[in-house]
Amino acid sequence: MKIARVRVDLAIGREFDYLIPDELESRVEVGVRVKAPFGKRELLGWVVEISDQSEHPELKPIIDVIGGYSLLTESTLKLAKWIARYYACPLETALKSVFPTTVRKEKSGWKEALFIERIETDEPDNVEKLPPKQKTLWDYLKPGEPETLQSCLAALSITAAVARGLEKKQLARIWSDKSLRNPTQILEETLVATKDLELSSDQRHAFGTIRTSIQRGESRNYLLYGVTGSGKTEVYLQALAECLRQGRGAIVLVPEIALTPQTVERFKARFMSGELKTEVAVLHSHLSSGERHDEWHKIRQGKARIVIGARSAIFSPVHPLGLIIVDEEHEGSYKQEEAPRYHARDVAAYRARMEGAVAVFGSATPSMESYTNALNGKYELLRLDQRIDDRRMPVVRVVDMRMESRREKRKGGRTIFSVPLKEAIISRLEKGEQTILFLNRRGYATSMLCPECGYVAECPNCSLALTFHFKENRLRCHLCGHDQAAHKKCPEKECGSPGIRYSGIGTEKVEEVLGKLFPKARMRRMDSDTLKRKTDYEVILGAFRRGQIDILLGTQMIAKGLHFPNVTLVGIIHADLTLHAPDFRAAERTFQLLTQVAGRAGRGDVEGEVVVQSFTPFHDAIQHAKRHDFEGFYDAEIEFRKQLQYPPFHRIALITVRGEDEQAVEQAAEEVRIKLDKRLQGIGWKGKKVSWELRGPSPAPLARAESKYRYQLMLKTDRMSAVGPVLQELRQYLKFSKKIQCVFDVDPMNLI
Ligand code: ADP
Ligand code: ZN
Ligand code: ZN
Repeated sequence: MKIARVRVDLAIGREFDYLIPDELESRVEVGVRVKAPFGKRELLGWVVEISDQSEHPELKPIIDVIGGYSLLTESTLKLAKWIARYYACPLETALKSVFPTTVRKEKSGWKEALFIERIETDEPDNVEKLPPKQKTLWDYLKPGEPETLQSCLAALSITAAVARGLEKKQLARIWSDKSLRNPTQILEETLVATKDLELSSDQRHAFGTIRTSIQRGESRNYLLYGVTGSGKTEVYLQALAECLRQGRGAIVLVPEIALTPQTVERFKARFMSGELKTEVAVLHSHLSSGERHDEWHKIRQGKARIVIGARSAIFSPVHPLGLIIVDEEHEGSYKQEEAPRYHARDVAAYRARMEGAVAVFGSATPSMESYTNALNGKYELLRLDQRIDDRRMPVVRVVDMRMESRREKRKGGRTIFSVPLKEAIISRLEKGEQTILFLNRRGYATSMLCPECGYVAECPNCSLALTFHFKENRLRCHLCGHDQAAHKKCPEKECGSPGIRYSGIGTEKVEEVLGKLFPKARMRRMDSDTLKRKTDYEVILGAFRRGQIDILLGTQMIAKGLHFPNVTLVGIIHADLTLHAPDFRAAERTFQLLTQVAGRAGRGDVEGEVVVQSFTPFHDAIQHAKRHDFEGFYDAEIEFRKQLQYPPFHRIALITVRGEDEQAVEQAAEEVRIKLDKRLQGIGWKGKKVSWELRGPSPAPLARAESKYRYQLMLKTDRMSAVGPVLQELRQYLKFSKKIQCVFDVDPMNLI
């Protein structure tokens, strides 16, 4: 009898052998889901290997096979294995992400519905003699086109009895079948087909290069660097078409927040008719589990050749795969913040290589990692330098808030709005144009700054902002563990002001002030506090689009990809908030954010203006964003990364130990350090020595969260592929009590 190696749905990092009973033999293959006995329980799991023998003498048989066909393809299994090794997690955990929960369930996830189809008759009389309602229904049904019973009944306002009557007279057939749930049905009803646009010369060059790779079946990576509105999406669409022509499918990743109906529409509209007609499956977190189930199977069965989705869509069972597009590749949300902690862009690069597909990473503000890859030849750089309509980039004014607060101080007030920003808003209100105000409150971190002179407390070792620990009244750096007493007054010699501030202002406060300054303006605040239902986002944006709101105030969520022609002013209330976050990516994030937000202004016929308020107006991130100069910013930032050996020069793994007992946490963290240090001694990669450096443990910047203490270790290395497996293996040697958790985060995006 054959043996199946099974990974059961428990994150225990090992395989178990089972016998394959004869009656199941034809259905058990690598990749199927099975039910198997496990101790006293029955568990579901994946068959990852079939073998002729087992080391274990007494094996139990598999109980059943779940579902009609193998869900796990060879390539997705390989992908899961890579994720488990690189991101240091058990294979079972990696498999959890690769398959939506709804697909893994034991019970069939299909929805059944009744269908009706009319039966033709040779005797016209049979129809003429029908009672009026039955005749209406018979006429309504078109020959050879089954419909769901429910939709017929609703359309004709009749009851099921009428249909059953037709059935009895053998003039209709009614049966039960799978019915697909369609998350974008409403959208599709109004969709108008689009055709390829004639490309600009930059677009033609970019597309031509990508097309050649697709035609040759080369596995190449491209960085498509083009300002907002430069026509990247059109390049994606034509590349997708080429991929379909070659008989392959494709995956398009967009950040969750950019996955709006408008985005989906653009992709669906291009492939809804014509010779390349295909369904476009959509995967995102707002789908019901039934919808997700059906979309997934639509892809698995090859009915949808193109998938557009957020992060986890990278695991879609598209086969054969020809193209992966990652739009806004710099977006932090591509990194999953729970295990498996994968980065979808990096998974995309790996998957493309494994399956011989082309990967295109697009951005107006590429990540330091990707642009470096483009410069050193790992990716090929394709540029779109101009906006399609030659519209100019908005004018950016940087307001020095140190001056502004001095002026206000004299008058005894506090400044949230500088005079230039106030005046700019007034002028928009007078002209009936719209304003977006932006204040980033991301994260919990507050910086300590002096409003008099702009001083910001930074770590002497890391040139990162220090985090203020409120309880102990101390300033700490979580990277190196530097720790000092909090200032009571500004430490700058010439200043010494006692007016030190520890926290920024939030959107709520700004809303209040706005109400007082502009009582007549129609204003809406949009942040996670004001959005209660999942439709609120669309409702507010809809009102804004229709011109029913003059000023839209919000966080992060209004920064991305929105297109409002009547917005001529964007105000950034406090550009320094992101800049001094305790994270080496602070400047990069600030630059990206300012550029993205600025891109919201002047999308219509009137030129846009951006007002940036800052206490550090001469910082590289702000000055280069002002000039729309990505390369200038890159050159300055890369120097800083190099000096301090941060990514992209080195890779980082962050190990966080958590628990309620602080002493136990500290001890456990120390144990991790000792064991890890030992295992890393002398490790190599393809015959070369791997360099690494382990720092900590030290308390995390968020030293206590959800009543748990947190300690961190940071590992820097030039070869993460060699270190990831060491971390994964280390798990088995760490025997902590259940009260201690140890989290491994490879290539972390969040250092808090
Ligand atoms: P991006 O994705 O870089 O922000 P888009 O693809 O959205 O840019 O293009 C911006 C606008 O320009 C869109 O309205 C798009 O339809 C239009 N556009 C793109 N390429 C062309 C082209 N070759 N000819 C005419 N209009 C174009
Ligand atoms: Zn000062
Ligand atoms: Zn430090």
